[in-house]
This record gives sequence, C-alpha cells and structure tokens, in this order.
Amino acid sequence: MSNGNQCCAVILAAGASTRMNLSVGKQFFPLLGMPSVARTILAFEKAGEIGSIVVVCREEELDQMRIIARGIDAKKIISIVPGGETRQQSAAAGLAAVPHEAELVAVHDGARPLVRPEEIDACVADAREHGASALAVPVKDTIKITDSAGFIDSTPDRSCLWAVQTPQVFRRSDYEAAMRRAQEENADYTDDCQLLEHMGVRVHLCRGSYENIKLTTQDDIITAETILRRREESV
Ligand code: C5P
Repeated sequence: MSNGNQCCAVILAAGASTRMNLSVGKQFFPLLGMPSVARTILAFEKAGEIGSIVVVCREEELDQMRIIARGIDAKKIISIVPGGETRQQSAAAGLAAVPHEAELVAVHDGARPLVRPEEIDACVADAREHGASALAVPVKDTIKITDSAGFIDSTPDRSCLWAVQTPQVFRRSDYEAAMRRAQEENADYTDDCQLLEHMGVRVHLCRGSYENIKLTTQDDIITAETILRRREESV
C-alpha cells in the first residue's frame, strides 16, 4: 500500500434512480445476487491506495446501507451520511465527513459497480502526480454539437474527446475550496471535475475502461451482468 491512509473515497449513492423504473433504488438492485453498491464498496476496499471510505445515501436508506456494509465486512467505511437533493449536495455532505488527515479525496458514483481496484489505484497515483485526475475513455462515436432547433452546428475533433467517468481524485483542500465557491455562486454541477475546472485547477485524465459503466437505465443492468459473468468465467 502506498500512502493509502491519505486518500479517502466518497461513494455517492443517494440518487433517486428515477430513470430505472425499478421497485428498489439502483444502488440496492442485485447484480448476479449482490447489491450493486456492495460491489462498488468492495472495489474500494480492495484498492491499496484507498485508506478510508465515506458512503452517502438517502436518509431513509441509512439502515439498509449499514446492513449492506456489515454484510460485506467493509472495514474501511468510516461514515455513512445522508445525501442531498442533487449530486453536488450529496458530494458536499460526503466531503464534510472526510477526515482532515486525508490529503486526497476520490469521489465515485455508487452506480459504477464495475470499477476495478487497479483502475482506482491508477487514478489516485495519477492525481498524486498531476494534482487532480479522473478516469476517462476516448469517445468511440463522432460527437455533434447542435443548435436549439436540432441541426448540427459543429463537429469537434474526435481525437480530443473523452467520456469522463469516476473516480475523480482531487486534493482535499482544492475540492473544499471549489465546493465552497460553487455554493456561493449557486452553481450545481453534475460532475466534480467541473467544480475544479471552474477554479482553474487542471485535471488530468487517466485512461480507464469501457466496462466502468454507470447504471442509469435497465439496459445497463443487462450489460453489467454480462460483464460480471465474463469476469467470473475468466478467473
Ligand atoms: O443521477 P446520476 O446517475 O448522474 O447519479 C450519479 C451518482 O450520483 C449515482 O451514484 C447517484 O446515486 C449519486 N447521486 C447522489 N445524490 C443525488 C443524486 C445522485 O448521491 N442527489
């Protein structure tokens, strides 16, 4: 483990899962029998660079999350805290629970259960080198920017386009300052890199895997289980 105690993970699992149309929140939906958020937490438990974990969930799901954490014997979890109405508010609640001795914070979507411990470690190492880092993959499709009527306005150069994922790893002090500024400006971002970009902090991208998908619609559950089955067959 290299400086593992200096990086605290904040796992965001307080979303409403409205795009899923499921009877349970997507964080608790079983993927090959294990709640998706349990898979997410276990990846961080196994990542040598991560020293502690804060989990953010919906107030009414605190007990359920505590039961899941106990069930997988998650030793790095130091707090389970209630989130807010928006992703950024949940991130702020998680950040407030990060211990002062943590030099780095790794923010992660609880809805990305397929992240691998090696990818988390690579992203933390990248942040140690560059000050801030996010996992990302080059986009495969050509991306179009449209006008308000739906016509193509321009076509950005694909070689410069990346789809950003999580974890996103920042110095705690930078992240706290960026969060304060966003709150003062009433800005609400869906991605933490934007908070830092707005402060002028340069965020390096660390090449990740196309398998690190975010569970958003029911199709993603089928994809996630297919990937997990393939992983299980290859061990
Ligand atoms: O809504 P979206 O899929 O972009 O959410 C990304 C992540 O942020 C999910 O893991 C979700 O649980 C989390 N989130 C949160 N609090 C919110 C909204 C989203 O923790 N209010």
